Amino acid sequence: MTMPNGFTRDDRAQLSGAEQQLIQRRERVLGAAYRLFYERPLHLVRGEGVWLYDAHGRRYLDAYNNVASVGHCHPRVVQAIAAQAAQLNTHTRYLHDGILDYAENLLDTFPAHLRRVMFTCTGSEANDLALRIARQHTGGTGIIVTRFAYHGVTHEVAQLSPALGPALVLPPHVRTVRAPDAYRLGEPVAEAFAADVRTAIADLRAAGIRPAALLVDGLFASDGVLTGPPGFMAEAVALAQAEGLLYIADEVQAGFARTGSHMWGFQRHGVQPDLVTLGKPMGNGHPLAGLVGRAEIVDGFGRQMRYFNTFGGNPVACAAGQAVLDVIADEQLQSRCQALGEHLLAGVQRLAARYPVIGDVRGAGLFLGVELVSDRQARTPAAALTRQLVNRIRELGVLISAAGPLENVLKIRPLLAFEREHADHLLEALEQALAELPASG
Ligand code: PMP
Repeated sequence: MTMPNGFTRDDRAQLSGAEQQLIQRRERVLGAAYRLFYERPLHLVRGEGVWLYDAHGRRYLDAYNNVASVGHCHPRVVQAIAAQAAQLNTHTRYLHDGILDYAENLLDTFPAHLRRVMFTCTGSEANDLALRIARQHTGGTGIIVTRFAYHGVTHEVAQLSPALGPALVLPPHVRTVRAPDAYRLGEPVAEAFAADVRTAIADLRAAGIRPAALLVDGLFASDGVLTGPPGFMAEAVALAQAEGLLYIADEVQAGFARTGSHMWGFQRHGVQPDLVTLGKPMGNGHPLAGLVGRAEIVDGFGRQMRYFNTFGGNPVACAAGQAVLDVIADEQLQSRCQALGEHLLAGVQRLAARYPVIGDVRGAGLFLGVELVSDRQARTPAAALTRQLVNRIRELGVLISAAGPLENVLKIRPLLAFEREHADHLLEALEQALAELPASG
């Protein structure tokens, strides 16, 4: 898989003997598919709040983590996991209050039309299950995704994930549409997205394939973090649903208050998904993911086929999930995320006014994309420079990464636990790294 911020063999020379040894051990046991972040990979041993600590005791500000979203090792999550693990951990085939309490509390955060939840362990499994349900409901097989989408690792969803690299061959039942990129598309994104979805539906039908679902990550993270304007998905979604497709909102990235303005990313677009898939921050690092959907659709599937996921939604996982929901509510993480996201966006926009290498700045809550170009007029993607900046900022003690098909978008995704001082620390590191670039300023 191509990975814009991946360690390569060429970076090896600058590492210590001990680090090189660890890398060799990794290769020996984990094989070739695994990637490390950064030219100088991090060897982390501890996390606390917004900070990560390496083996030498140096701390790094984590501005890239959408898993330990409420804070590394948040004491309430740790305590909830430990207490439940010490009492009972079984599965969803026994009656259990904690599982049901969590399921009800989670559903309460969704619009009223979404009344069922099913638990999995990963976002990939949730998407996989959503596709099975969509196929069963529609009788179709065709799936529409964006051109550089990423939806996970099962056989089924990996086939819907062109971001995995050019070796991935799309199967005949999959159609891709252009990502709604307001910076690069050169036409209004809402109309372009809807027109592309219409074409994809027609194309599937022309090939004798009945379409089943439109599956979209509401923040288009792998497509380069495409956040605006809010509402741009409405036309395409309405069209797909009118044509009998289910709209599956992949909220693995956008969910759990990440966008600040809403608990769920799809709400920014004023759309009503049929199925919603969840993951990453759901258990703050404990493997917990799932699917939320319309009752009639989920029940229709369940009447045909039973469902059991050994670990999915077990009492310990649900205790972690409940603690995450409680922390989001009690620490007002959604409103804090919105305010801090605006502060951060304004800060990066100020940098953009001074550094022509920044071609575009976009964001929703605490998820920002900063597109770097070597020529603003021509919008020439600056991939090498993006890599350089990410690595320089890492040396300065702040963790971000890069994304997008052109590998030229800084992906900034701080923990929801960030405070104003942390956002300012991040902005200072970004500014210092930009100021050091030879052609900048
Ligand atoms: N969907 C999206 C949008 C994702 O970003 C990811 C993970 N990066 C997944 C699905 C898959 O989740 P998991 O790694 O938990 O299987």
